[in-house]
Amino acid sequence: MKKKILFMILACITALSITSCESAPATTENETSAAAESSIETVTDESVTAQEALGNDSSLSDVSTAVADTSVADSSTSAVPADTSTAAEAQDASVAPEIAPQETITQTPVYLTDDMEFASFSQIHSDAAILYENHKSNSNGITICVNAGHGTNGGESVRTQCHPDGTPKVTGGSTSEGSTTATAVASGMTFLDGTEERAVTLPAAIILKDRLLDAGYNVLMIRETEDVQLDNIARTVLANTYAQAHVALHWDSTESDKGAYYMKVPSVDSYKSMYPVSETWEKSDQFGECLVQGLGQAGRSIFESGSIEMDLTQTSYSKVPSIDIELGDRASDHSDETLQNIAEGLLMGINAYFGIGGQG
Ligand SMILES: [Zn+2]
Repeated sequence: MKKKILFMILACITALSITSCESAPATTENETSAAAESSIETVTDESVTAQEALGNDSSLSDVSTAVADTSVADSSTSAVPADTSTAAEAQDASVAPEIAPQETITQTPVYLTDDMEFASFSQIHSDAAILYENHKSNSNGITICVNAGHGTNGGESVRTQCHPDGTPKVTGGSTSEGSTTATAVASGMTFLDGTEERAVTLPAAIILKDRLLDAGYNVLMIRETEDVQLDNIARTVLANTYAQAHVALHWDSTESDKGAYYMKVPSVDSYKSMYPVSETWEKSDQFGECLVQGLGQAGRSIFESGSIEMDLTQTSYSKVPSIDIELGDRASDHSDETLQNIAEGLLMGINAYFGIGGQG
């Protein structure tokens, strides 16, 4: 009962304290707060049980080694509802007595299903993403989708529709302006030292996941292995379903060690008025500003204004604040120390966006 009250208090604090980063439009503050609240409530409805999900793929057992917490619950435990008002009750009823529920992190494979909006636009979705749910005493009930960019074998030879309404792309990028279809998942660049981008986004994502779990967040991990068969649309739809924000980690293909920036929603009226961009672009831009500010606070160099306008598949299908962040380029250092520093900065930015820990 004490726990339940604590959860409710935390949920209220979280909902009330969402703030905007300095350079974000002030008018979006209330909308963001309301959206975060409502998306927290809707997660429960679309949760699948671990049992159901495991029925589809038995190769997922290897991911259990990637969990940061030492007291991981048995993955056969049903997914705990994300609704913060009932989560404590559900734990009391379903968790085995020898596991202290407030100290556990559960993990559940989650698959794309037909009932998810925009799922039919995905061409590659045979693998699961992993939902880590935090039941520790510092849990804040917020789920962040951490998307290690690239890493879908064969993804570069499949095409998906750029926009849900079929209109052409309004900017260039890896697919040129005017195209109506794009690569389902690009293979990514190669660093000047010969390391593939996808081999750097992966450890960066795992480090960020560990930081987020320590800080009390839930995490939806899109990819935890070299390859995951989930295209950019599937990744986005899963984030829409299970997370309150989506951050995709990338490094750019230039060679100037140019610093970090985020892909900003293009200033094109027809694009900003297209659903679901119409409902998310302000929040995405605000989230991007927060991430870049956090990286700057952590001492990362920032490229020019910290953003470049880009029409991305990820943005075009996102129903939650969603950012492709470029953390450097082919010439940039990607040592473990740097990836730790990047994760620290991203965590500061995420905390600022959600008003956690006195940031923002
Ligand atoms: Zn990339």
